[in-house]
Amino acid sequence: MTTRLLEEKRGVVLGVANDRSIAWGCAQACAHHGAELAFGYPNDAMKKRVEELAQTMPGAPVLLCDVTKDDDISAFFAKLKEHWGSIDFVVHSIAFAHRDDLKNPFLQTPRDHFALAMDVSAYSLVAVAREAAPLMTNGGSIVTMTYYGAEKVIPNYNVMGVAKAALEACTRYLAYDLGPQSIRINAISAGPIRTLSASAISDLRIMLDVAEKTAPLRRNVTQTEVGNAALYLLSDLASGVTGEVHHVDCGYNTLGLSAYEPSGE
Ligand code: NAD
Repeated sequence: MTTRLLEEKRGVVLGVANDRSIAWGCAQACAHHGAELAFGYPNDAMKKRVEELAQTMPGAPVLLCDVTKDDDISAFFAKLKEHWGSIDFVVHSIAFAHRDDLKNPFLQTPRDHFALAMDVSAYSLVAVAREAAPLMTNGGSIVTMTYYGAEKVIPNYNVMGVAKAALEACTRYLAYDLGPQSIRINAISAGPIRTLSASAISDLRIMLDVAEKTAPLRRNVTQTEVGNAALYLLSDLASGVTGEVHHVDCGYNTLGLSAYEPSGE
């Protein structure tokens, strides 16, 4: 029998939109390894979609959690406290930027769009970690999702690259604050994957092509592979690992060739 890495652990998955979501890849890996899961959704429009997927994991609570609202986040974790008493892990797989800002020159990013992208994509990790930590009475692990556009310029990634740079810094500072409570926090830098959010990026097709041609593995990474990496970081196998960005991208950035000329479409 294979070892179940998350047996008797309970965790939260934020960021499932559909079965292509990276969060869903994480949920499946965690459930397969024995975890009990709870899911968040940001609004009524998403509720049904998340409920339909969560039904495949009987008994999984599906609760409102718009991460731009402090009240939603605190109510979400209060309900989980009532339901479970404590939790062991959180998957934060959430980002948002206006579509125009992933196409126009970064220079043109309006102030309010910049603030919203930072709020949803970076600050939300801080707000979620603050509410989750008191429930992690036996220590815990938090995983968030980032992208190489935080480190280097990837054409069109723009404000999201800036938000991801902030997210990666948040990961390090949160790891420092939460370490004394044995709560670890890590970021996975995933290679490009065709998902609902990623489809908002102009030239996603070129990003996928470049990654496929330049990555040492000569292909793109899958949600399942990102989910398996999250599984490791959420499990006790990674008990000494925190505050790091882990590239799970078929080696895509190792050759330094991942930049491309935008198509101008
Ligand atoms: P996705 O569209 O499936 O997931 C994004 C999720 O963010 C959705 O479930 C959406 O409901 C949620 N969300 C947006 N605003 C929210 C809010 N206010 N409150 C709560 N939830 C909110 O796309 P994905 O590609 O799976 O994205 C998941 C994460 O992975 C994001 O952080 C993304 O930047 C990151 N990532 C994606 C790729 C890629 O190529 N797809 C690569 C690296 C990193």
